Amino acid sequence: MPTQNEVKFELDFGDPEVTGGVTVFDPQFDELFYYDGNDLGVHLFADRTTFRLWAPTASAAHLVLYKSNNTKAVKEIDMIRGSRGTWTLTVPESLEGWLYTYKVLIGRQFHEALDPYTRAVAVNGDKSAIVDMTKTNPDGWRPTFKPSFTQQTDAIIYEVHVRDLTVHPQSGAHNRGKFLGAAETGTRGPNGILTGLDHIVSMGVTHVQLLPIFDYATTSVDETEPDGTKYNWGYDPKNYNVPEGYYATDPYEPITRIKELKHMIQAMHNKGLRVIMDVVYNHVADAYKHALGQLVPGYFFRYWDEAKQQLSNGSGCGNDTASERLMMRKYILDSVNYWATEYNLDGFRFDLMGLHDIETMRQVRTMLNKIDPGMVLIGEGWYLNTSLDDSKKANIYNSWQMPGVGQFNDALRNTLKGNPFEERAQGYVGGGKFLENEVRKGIVGGIPYNEYIHSIVAEPDQNVNYVECHDNHTMWDKLKLTNGFDTRKTRRRMHRLSSAIVLMSQGIAFIHAGQEFMRTKFGCENSYNLPDAINQMDWSRASQHQDDVAYMRAMIALRKAHKAFRMKTTAEIKAHLMFEDCPGHTIAFTLRDHANGDGSKHLYVVFNANQSSSRLQVPALGDWRIAFGHEHVEQFTDNILEMEGLSTVVLEIV
Ligand code: CA
Repeated sequence: MPTQNEVKFELDFGDPEVTGGVTVFDPQFDELFYYDGNDLGVHLFADRTTFRLWAPTASAAHLVLYKSNNTKAVKEIDMIRGSRGTWTLTVPESLEGWLYTYKVLIGRQFHEALDPYTRAVAVNGDKSAIVDMTKTNPDGWRPTFKPSFTQQTDAIIYEVHVRDLTVHPQSGAHNRGKFLGAAETGTRGPNGILTGLDHIVSMGVTHVQLLPIFDYATTSVDETEPDGTKYNWGYDPKNYNVPEGYYATDPYEPITRIKELKHMIQAMHNKGLRVIMDVVYNHVADAYKHALGQLVPGYFFRYWDEAKQQLSNGSGCGNDTASERLMMRKYILDSVNYWATEYNLDGFRFDLMGLHDIETMRQVRTMLNKIDPGMVLIGEGWYLNTSLDDSKKANIYNSWQMPGVGQFNDALRNTLKGNPFEERAQGYVGGGKFLENEVRKGIVGGIPYNEYIHSIVAEPDQNVNYVECHDNHTMWDKLKLTNGFDTRKTRRRMHRLSSAIVLMSQGIAFIHAGQEFMRTKFGCENSYNLPDAINQMDWSRASQHQDDVAYMRAMIALRKAHKAFRMKTTAEIKAHLMFEDCPGHTIAFTLRDHANGDGSKHLYVVFNANQSSSRLQVPALGDWRIAFGHEHVEQFTDNILEMEGLSTVVLEIV
């Protein structure tokens, strides 16, 4: 039985007569109709409003104007066929405050859709809105001010969902769950602990990474209930260039969500944090209803079989966009450029990047470098089954062709915590055996270090180390499955050890909000639509785990204090990082000779994943002193280090 999507997608791809006999699937289509102008969408002036729409297969196009979201169209105005498949219109007055859609005639059917380039929308993103963008800037807006940052390997990323951050009743925020809540400072929780933005700042991380903040589909969250209890991560894109209305205090007023998101980004910048946006260009919520499907049917999506209208579905969400097609690639580039400049964002995390093509990701990197070379670009480079040749996929196996694009290192994650697809599989910190070499691959930043320690990426800035993110079990929940027979105290030590390995390894370091207080989602491994009770940052729990929070802060401070943990190149890592002799289930290494200009001459790092003490012979390089983990050192004399089980110790020679 066909899925609902397949039935609905029996769309007319248009009369080839309109496009000179060329269909949207012919390679010549891009040659004939690729439009490289920068004026797509609506542009508002004091005395006129201009529109340009790309819709080559349409035999007619109209602008449809509305006064409000729920009333009938006020008028339809014919658009004029322009160059390379575009349609244009100039209305000789300012249309500020109007709502609009486009109506195109494809074959014998009219399709009405939003403007894919729209920057503002009515509630639930159901109509495009014409706004004066200069009125969207919050008070004191500094359009280019941001904390300085240059080297991607210096990033310590903190991933958080806007709503999770402050929706908890004890967050102390006034605007709980909103963009404005995430911008509040001075918030306090139980026992006076720091919460919200102040808490993040206190961790010492360099970047906040936000789960989707663009407008996602109403089927997930209805914006007409802005104070509702609905929840979604938001990986079902509706309007790519507009903020989500559910996080705004007024989703009906198109300017509000824009202004409030900008306010939040600025608040983070003012506190020394850079901001990374999670972008989901790989699929849309509904390929049939989405503007990209309605305006140029067939063009923007991949198919396994065009005649049968069988969509490629490597995303698992019903469709895959076709980034290799020039106008889809341009759309991604234009959108990223827009967010980076209009919202002054500092980096992008590409969801299911492995669905995109290599050339698109290369062009995104090049474009971001022109705006600010310190822009972070990372993505999920999974191998996915989409109808694109394997040699073109932007996945980790082709990472050598994408310099400066970070890949999530799920190999290290799985090694540390256990395979997410085998609930009871123990990871290295839980006692899993023979995993030391796999951990070393993460410690070197995923680079080709030697014959045995060799994974996939070419350079450390292409490697993102993590043990926990929004997907899958939190580390705490996974440890309950794999090590439920151990005491809570033991599991806390295992948890800390996993974070220590992430934070003392080469490459980009990534932590999940709440990891510092042993976040639990009560065993739920996919919480994308579960209630706040599961997803929220629980400030009561944070208050009970302030010693764990302090431990995480200390590790982050150590990483920031020592450039040796953040070497820039593979050559440096091979020259300065040396693995040292150690007992079983222990890993020791040195970072030697002022690695990466570190103030210390040498560092010695040891992870003891045994539950019992370990005894190590520290290389006789000089006068070692304890830099981190004093509380775990049982004895240290004559270069013999005895340390507790499940602990991390760092020594240094200054
Ligand atoms: Ca929405």
